Amino acid sequence: MINSLRGFRDLLPPESDLFTRIEAAAREVFGLYGYQELRIPTIEKKELFVKSTGETTDIVEKEMYAFTDGGGREVALRPEGTPGAVRAYIEHNLGQTGRNGKYFYIGSMFRAERPQAGRFREFTQIGAEHIGNPSPAADAESISMLVRLLEKAGVGGCSVVINSLGCAECRKTYRQILLDHLRLNAAALCEPCKGRIERNPLRALDCKIDGPALAEKAPRLSLCPACAAHFSRTQELLKISGVEFQVNPGLVRGLDYYTSTVFEVRSGALGSQDAVCGGGRYDDLVKSMGGPAAPAIGWAVGVDRMAMLLKDQPAPDSAPKTFIVAASKEAGDKAFALVTSMRAAGISSDFSNFELSLKSQMRSADKSGASFALIIGEDELKAGACAIKSLKAHGEQQTVPLPDAPSTIKQLLKG
Ligand code: ATP
Ligand code: MG
Repeated sequence: MINSLRGFRDLLPPESDLFTRIEAAAREVFGLYGYQELRIPTIEKKELFVKSTGETTDIVEKEMYAFTDGGGREVALRPEGTPGAVRAYIEHNLGQTGRNGKYFYIGSMFRAERPQAGRFREFTQIGAEHIGNPSPAADAESISMLVRLLEKAGVGGCSVVINSLGCAECRKTYRQILLDHLRLNAAALCEPCKGRIERNPLRALDCKIDGPALAEKAPRLSLCPACAAHFSRTQELLKISGVEFQVNPGLVRGLDYYTSTVFEVRSGALGSQDAVCGGGRYDDLVKSMGGPAAPAIGWAVGVDRMAMLLKDQPAPDSAPKTFIVAASKEAGDKAFALVTSMRAAGISSDFSNFELSLKSQMRSADKSGASFALIIGEDELKAGACAIKSLKAHGEQQTVPLPDAPSTIKQLLKG
């Protein structure tokens, strides 16, 4: 037999239903905040990710599923959603529609990482991007919407950590200060960091190996007055919206495009892969990708990790309300029509195989967890009726004309 690939998994019920519920909660929250859906391709030109996510990031350097397709094109499975969303924004001139520039996406992302608890090679992200609004209110709104979404989905126990990475100007000075510091402490760096600090010193602070220790001792970025004001206003507005957060000056995100506000949501209940969500401002990305000067902010939550936090919740009842049973081939015709009319009336209904014995069909009815069996035996067939037998309570049975079955069941379900 052929198995699935390592790191790629089948989502089976009831876990698949958790995903559906999380996505439904997200859609509801997005509606409240004026976000509209973008459905973007799974495969893009490889250079899209190289130019936006960044050449020196783990995602592009090590984790991307990039390949040459049959036509000789260099393509990649999307490792994250922001590059495609920004490409679509530019390609379709979405900035000129006069809309509020708020978009969300839901879909699979692909990263060739080592599979472990909470880390898969195909995983689902829900992402939000607000493009074209430079105000701190957009930052506070984006973060508070994220918190609302986690609450709505039933994910508790998360903590929000924020920081500001400043603008390109703040970073220019800081880059040199940090680089000097890292060069002096080169002995403390892991091998990959030794190689990349010259190209991207900030990356070292976000390194999974030496990052935490480095971030503690590294010189802090000092924000220019405008960035400092933006960051403190963002915090005021977050407080107004009732979001609890911590400022961590050591928080650096692993992607190249972030500027100004960055944030992460973590959950202690997750173990070593504790990040639930990451996001931040990317004020220069749209322009650098050939679009208008459109400051933006966004985030992506990992649905797989949200589902891990929810998996102890009781699964919803998936049992049908009624189970239809027939005693003969002719009764089977009526029974099939009855299943159809029950479902048309909005009553979930099922059956097994009308050609099997009554006894066997009744066994299936019991196993299905249905509340009622609707039986068309020889007598019922002659009378154009069906017998309704409660599978939950003992001995209660009544016979009703076939057309009355849906309304009778509705009454019984209410009672
Ligand atoms: P991590 O630190 O766990 O590697 P990340 O910083 O690479 O996370 P982001 O790129 O910020 O993650 O993606 C946002 C969210 O997507 C993460 O917080 C996480 O919930 C989820 N995520 C990222 N990579 C994976 C993966 N390989 N498997 C499952 N979920 C993932
Ligand atoms: Mg990662």
